[in-house]
Amino acid sequence: MNLTVERRTRKAVIAGAGPAGSSLAIRLARSGLEVTLIERSFFPRRKLCGEFISPECLEHFKDLGVLADMMSAGGDRIAETVFFSMKGRSASVPSDWFGAASKSALGLSRAEMDLRLLEKARCEGVEIIEGAAVNGIVREEDLVKAVTVRLESGERVEVEGDIFADATGRARALARHASGEEASRPRLVGFKSHFSGVEMPSGRCEIYFFPGGYGGLNYVEDGLANHCFLVRADVVRSFGGDTDSMVDELVLSNIRARQTLGNAKKQFDWLAVAVDGFGPKELVPAPNLFAVGDAGAFIDPFTGSGMLMALESSDLLAKALVRGASSLETAAEGYRADHRSKFARRLRLCAVMRRIAYLPMFAGAAVSAVGLSSTARKLLARSTRKGAEAGGSWFL
Ligand SMILES: Cc1cc2nc3c(=O)[nH]c(=O)nc-3n(C[C@H](O)[C@H](O)[C@H](O)COP(=O)(O)OP(=O)(O)OC[C@H]3O[C@@H](n4cnc5c(N)ncnc54)[C@H](O)[C@@H]3O)c2cc1C
Repeated sequence: MNLTVERRTRKAVIAGAGPAGSSLAIRLARSGLEVTLIERSFFPRRKLCGEFISPECLEHFKDLGVLADMMSAGGDRIAETVFFSMKGRSASVPSDWFGAASKSALGLSRAEMDLRLLEKARCEGVEIIEGAAVNGIVREEDLVKAVTVRLESGERVEVEGDIFADATGRARALARHASGEEASRPRLVGFKSHFSGVEMPSGRCEIYFFPGGYGGLNYVEDGLANHCFLVRADVVRSFGGDTDSMVDELVLSNIRARQTLGNAKKQFDWLAVAVDGFGPKELVPAPNLFAVGDAGAFIDPFTGSGMLMALESSDLLAKALVRGASSLETAAEGYRADHRSKFARRLRLCAVMRRIAYLPMFAGAAVSAVGLSSTARKLLARSTRKGAEAGGSWFL
């Protein structure tokens, strides 16, 4: 199948302006494509996330030309992540163990981070349509010819293109239409708010295990801290939707969480989101439709590397599209192979660690066990980032 469009520049249409969509837009615009980026919300907007930006992301920010802007946005430089069992046993993972050029991670709200990436895309000449939800595809034989979009005014429009990317996160708004896949039943629910009055030193991210889930805490801008937690859907149901009670009874049953969050003040109502599963998804649901970021694979939040994978996968996809400029098959094969090589091992390792994370007794024992050995902690931390190209991981 030929991708070369002789009469004009190839046009890429990207749905979703999270880190995957905006970074892909910047990369494709720089390689000479005409790019339209379609986003459901208006930026800046709050977004449920732990807001821990892994040190390796800063290298991507540098490539994308947004590093100085991100670093001056008022966020916190995070030197270590400390995992706490229910009873307060702890194990620390310094940020420099990830082997990135930057020795620290960054705590910055998604409102600020995503806005900066979107504005950079605009500067690179990307056409941006905000307040526009992509809700379907128009096909011509196998190929996607256009996406259908509902604008804020209620008007429906079609946006045509040659290449399409689904960067709508776990929603997979385009991929679901192309492959007919059904949304599965949520197994977990994530919650987040910002807090003042948190009793924790700056420069660290803390992770708390509690019955049915775990949560993270780190500072972002304006002296506020982001608290985000993930809990089993059946546990949420048993609290009848009363998130504050759930926090009091479950999250704060972790001794360390009670110390840091016990007197903290919530700044806005809890944001909540359902999570239906983890791991890789179909990456190329139609010959000219590619899934990137969480739409391509979702990694466990305790690794603090979902945004990193969004940035890494957009890099892989942009390169595969440029390499396979004259053939969709070549682009698809390249993207699938590179994605597997970079992410398959870390996703498998996380599947093992996830089973431990939801069993508080087991999580407590695991925190104690790895707390004894810095070598074990370093290997585990690095394994959540490594791909096959890095020469094999620890036990997978
Ligand atoms: C509880 C929890 C905590 C997490 N904590 C961290 C963390 O601390 N660090 C980390 O690195 N990762 C974390 N993650 C993962 C991280 O949030 C994701 O991996 C990352 O946001 C993926 O980026 P993305 O661009 O693929 O998708 P998203 O960031 O989800 O962006 C998708 C975009 O698409 C838009 N969109 C959705 N549907 C449509 C539509 N129909 N039409 C148009 N636009 C649409 C959305 O509005 C959004 O802007 C966490 C995830 C969860 C659930």
